[in-house]
Amino acid sequence: MSSVSMRRCTVCQACWIGPHLFWATGARGNNLDLAGLVCNTDYGGAGRCANPARGRLGGDTWEQREAWIRGVALPGEVAEGHPRRA
Ligand SMILES: [Zn+2]
Repeated sequence: MSSVSMRRCTVCQACWIGPHLFWATGARGNNLDLAGLVCNTDYGGAGRCANPARGRLGGDTWEQREAWIRGVALPGEVAEGHPRRA
């Protein structure tokens, strides 16, 4: 019970240590962001990613990342999970 499980996705190289996701870069992340940025895209091998949140919406997407870069949205706004629907 005390052992921490660790697994790595063979598609995107993301690593889960217990419930925590770490990107291939070693940065801490979360499953929904990984889903939006990797697993739900061609980068995620068209659905072969090991992410348990694969296929779910609500995390970061490339559209949101682009919005940050353009300065029309702040990361905090997106991270708080309050998407504004037109
Ligand atoms: Zn993956």
